Amino acid sequence: MFQEKIINDDILAKMSLENVFKIFNDNVYPMLNTEEREYCDKLQEFCIDLNPKIDRSKDVYGLLPELGKHGYIQRINPWKDFKPVGMKKEILLGTHLSMLDPQLELARLASGILCGNPTFHYYEHGGESDVARKIQDELLSGQKIGCIGITEPERGSDAVNMTTICTKTDDGVIFNGEKVYTTNGPKADYFCCYGVYDEGNPRDTMVQGIIAREFGVKTERLKINSVPRVHIAHTILDNVKVPQDYILADNGLGYKRLFEGLVPERLSIMGSGIGICWAGIIYGIIYTNLRKQFGKPVIRYQGVGYGLADLLTKSSAATALALQAATVYDEKILFADEPSKEAGKWIAAISSQGKYYVAKLTHEICYEVQQHMGGMSVTDNTPLDELTDVSKIEEVIGGARNIQLLLIQGQIQRFMRLL
Ligand SMILES: Cc1cc2nc3c(=O)[nH]c(=O)nc-3n(C[C@H](O)[C@H](O)[C@H](O)COP(=O)(O)OP(=O)(O)OC[C@H]3O[C@@H](n4cnc5c(N)ncnc54)[C@H](O)[C@@H]3O)c2cc1C
Repeated sequence: MFQEKIINDDILAKMSLENVFKIFNDNVYPMLNTEEREYCDKLQEFCIDLNPKIDRSKDVYGLLPELGKHGYIQRINPWKDFKPVGMKKEILLGTHLSMLDPQLELARLASGILCGNPTFHYYEHGGESDVARKIQDELLSGQKIGCIGITEPERGSDAVNMTTICTKTDDGVIFNGEKVYTTNGPKADYFCCYGVYDEGNPRDTMVQGIIAREFGVKTERLKINSVPRVHIAHTILDNVKVPQDYILADNGLGYKRLFEGLVPERLSIMGSGIGICWAGIIYGIIYTNLRKQFGKPVIRYQGVGYGLADLLTKSSAATALALQAATVYDEKILFADEPSKEAGKWIAAISSQGKYYVAKLTHEICYEVQQHMGGMSVTDNTPLDELTDVSKIEEVIGGARNIQLLLIQGQIQRFMRLL
């Protein structure tokens, strides 16, 4: 299991996923209603059952069908008979899967949310082709793998001004361009890609299509040390012809869907981040309560204990924010007869604030907990170092830190209109 075991047996026995969930429940269950607790109970049973079957020396992709069997590739939208659904359930799903395996959670989110969500949006906006339903079923069962291609070599934060060029034909669209950092790309069957008919007018000409690999997509894997079990690609679209049925949003509607997708995407990333925060802090709590130096548990030294107290407080605050944002999203937007414009504006704002805060906090918590735990936490004998590695990329995915701050700064300037 470990390359070389040096951790004390008694401490190791207590550093179990079951115990992580016990401490998580004590902190988070009081914020949940009965239905949500029952949903989490089932998720925890599933995670505890899957945990021993995970081979951490292999990539995560063989695990996706296991998630699919239980409807755990996504939980925002109704799919088959899996219940309950909604953003709060999605946040709780991401939280639990991050505590189980943060790299599996990254791949799951890219396939189920980033590629899967556009198939739901397609039907919400009146789409009629059966192709998106077939792709949705394949992705959500975990049988096929999806990814999203927005970022390009020369267009990162400035994603709207993309350079991937689309050309109309009689029966479809030809894509020419390159995408980078495509999470799951090297393994993906489906690529949700964006391009424009006119580079000078992206807003009115953006296209969103789901491209099957066999249409001619080429991928090369990037070496990204922090998530070695997830494959991330340089994706090349060289005269890739996409049949019209696979075009989910044409003639500028792609731009609307790109932005429509960002809010649930950022809320979902908050769910993944909350799980990393709790896993980091809880493993730290267990270890420092049991590890003794100078005759007493190291948690009793103020330098360790107060540090963990500070991190626990922040983790609780971030969790309350994520759950509250998801509650408002469910009540006032997702399940509302008439979605509230006021709530829509608030949720767009809070998804940036929350994603910014939680993503940064994952790194602070994991790094600081490692310092409080000492040497053991940087070996493979505890899950901390993997959590820290994944935390490094939380801020850059889904829009880098400054882009969230840029959006929040825009909100701040709009406050003056209230006066
Ligand atoms: C591991 C990983 C997985 C990813 N997965 C995907 C994926 O699946 N699909 C996908 O499409 N993309 C993906 N991304 C891309 C990610 O969304 C981008 O990295 C991100 O949008 C930033 O783009 P960039 O890295 O090119 O940085 P740049 O845009 O080049 O920015 C460089 C720096 O400048 C700052 N900056 C840029 N513009 C401004 C501004 N106006 N004001 C202030 N500061 C600014 C940025 O914050 C950053 O610090 C992934 C990235 C990583 C690292």
